[in-house]
Amino acid sequence: MLSYQERVLGMLWGLHAGDSLGAPWEFLPPQASWNTKTEIVGGGKFNWKAGEATDDTDLMLCLLRALKSPQEISFDILKSEMLKWYASNPPDIGTTTIKGLQNLKDGLPLKDCGYVNNEFQGNGSIMRVAPLALLHDNAHGNYQDQVIQGLHEIMVTQTKMTHGHHHCVDTDLIFVPTVKAVLAGKNKAEIFATALHEAEKVSPFIYEKLKFIPQTEWNELSTSGFCVDTLCAGLWAFMKFDSLEDALVAVVNRGDDSDSCGAVAGVLCGAYYGPKAIPARWLEVLEYKEEIEKLCAAFFKN
Ligand SMILES: [Mg+2]
Repeated sequence: MLSYQERVLGMLWGLHAGDSLGAPWEFLPPQASWNTKTEIVGGGKFNWKAGEATDDTDLMLCLLRALKSPQEISFDILKSEMLKWYASNPPDIGTTTIKGLQNLKDGLPLKDCGYVNNEFQGNGSIMRVAPLALLHDNAHGNYQDQVIQGLHEIMVTQTKMTHGHHHCVDTDLIFVPTVKAVLAGKNKAEIFATALHEAEKVSPFIYEKLKFIPQTEWNELSTSGFCVDTLCAGLWAFMKFDSLEDALVAVVNRGDDSDSCGAVAGVLCGAYYGPKAIPARWLEVLEYKEEIEKLCAAFFKN
């Protein structure tokens, strides 16, 4: 039986593992079969080192550092962490994220930073949002002299810092409670029911897409950078396979936005199967393995 803390560590390491496993195959067409690529090897468009973190893990770490306790997140810390990352000129930053972070830097209100435009419905928020699942429903956020009350408002604010489109907000509103269900030790049927239930509340469009996940075959799966596709791909991998390794391998072998789809699948699988389910040969090369473990331990000490 996994403890809650083990599930949290599995979730965060799982995100990093999926990100680093998928990074070399980003922007590529699907591989020949679901299990063609099985190792964290680096390379790809940005010539990643094996195990190097990309934007998915980097921005997740910004969120993790901003969590003060299960009751509190500091948006001042989150903003400064995100802007520090932005100033480091990351190679793979998404276009929507660039616009959002530029607005954030210019001092716009947090919820006005993300673009609201049909061209900008990317997965830049869902790929990083997992740490918010550690907050209680009545948690609060602090930003300058404002208090952001309740997890719902925290989630909406966090998404809109870079992604203003309602599909981006809705995918996060579905994903975070789904991750909470995994962390609570629910079984897969219950977890999928949670995702559907949350989707039904916020978005008939996403609900209709999610419903077909269990019937979708590997060669039909879309792993595009559209936030709704990324949510569906993560849940697809989680539901279809009986191990973290197979689930992550299958989703990243679909190519396209393989690292972010791998990261989202890694969150669900890591929280469900625990940190020991991550293959040792993957774990040992992850750039932020120790940093994540340290931040996780510090969170539980508070
Ligand atoms: Mg990435």
